[in-house]
Amino acid sequence: MAILKYFSRVLPARRPIGVRDLEHALAKNEFVFYYQPEWDLKTGQILGLEALVRWNSPTRGLVAPMEFIPLMERSGLINKFTPLLLEQTLRDLNLIHRAGFGTLTMSINISVVQLKDISFVSIIQKYLNKYKIAPQFLECELTESVEMHGHPLEERSLQALQALRIPISIDDFGTAYSSFGHLKRVDAYKLKIDRDFVINLFNDIKNEKIVRMIIQLGHSLGLMVLAEGIETPEQEQWLLANGCDAGQGFWFSRPLPLDLLLPFLKKHTGAAPARTPAKKPAAAKARKKPAAPKKRAPRKK
Ligand code: C2E
Ligand code: CA
Ligand code: CA
Repeated sequence: MAILKYFSRVLPARRPIGVRDLEHALAKNEFVFYYQPEWDLKTGQILGLEALVRWNSPTRGLVAPMEFIPLMERSGLINKFTPLLLEQTLRDLNLIHRAGFGTLTMSINISVVQLKDISFVSIIQKYLNKYKIAPQFLECELTESVEMHGHPLEERSLQALQALRIPISIDDFGTAYSSFGHLKRVDAYKLKIDRDFVINLFNDIKNEKIVRMIIQLGHSLGLMVLAEGIETPEQEQWLLANGCDAGQGFWFSRPLPLDLLLPFLKKHTGAAPARTPAKKPAAAKARKKPAAPKKRAPRKK
């Protein structure tokens, strides 16, 4: 009896996540967004935020996106997630702008399955209108868990996004799914270097060469180049010295929920962030249990 009791408490939390769990979570709106700042490496200013979803499950706790987004994509449930994603992130962006940070952009991660949804762009338009956000403040990061095949609906959505002047960035650049083909097919303005190259920058000389090459390639195509996964000041210094434009990573800040993000922005951009003198960004710990931002060591010049 005691054993049964033990398992009846523990097993549900360890059960693999199924489609029904996600349907339920969508119906109950159990998804929350954390925001990770993107920094201009040269000026130290915050340029924008990336929205990263978590499932706040009453039984499992805070679940990371890689544990449920792939299943959402395979099952098609991701298309039911789209309105929720736009409602929450644009509502929060409206709040962030009204709090005095009117220059910040919001990047959302979009999968190919979402692009293939015929109503995808009209959902974006609906929430841009609802929250009075100009299209250039919303950025779509194309994340790939399945390869793009040039499906007509994908093309249609991409063209419609471009016609609306919604900036598109290529995420995880350098990985198998996100490479040269995308550069040709997508009229992107930003290229995000996959975090694995940056985290392991000094572990393998090849990584330094690859990252240098991606920065040059991006610049030769007129793109902004952002390095993800910056975890140390040495990585930041190296990227800055090698001409990388922007960065994102735990060294600057972990993804933060809105209630911690607003004080963080206040601290690091001043009350009116538009074009204030450059401030040195600081690190913050906030992945699972967000804590107050930590002071960052001064940048050596
Ligand atoms: P991503 O788009 O590459 O997002 C960046 C991931 O890197 C985030 O993980 C972030 O927490 C993590 N990260 C940021 N800085 C660092 C660092 O310095 N070191 C390390 N080790 N990691 C860092 P997260 O939040 O677990 O997201 C994982 C992936 O889930 C995202 O990868 C994205 O592909 C997907 N995802 C997240 N939110 C959404 C969403 O709303 N829609 C879709 N379709 N996919 C999403
Ligand atoms: Ca991303
Ligand atoms: Ca990425």
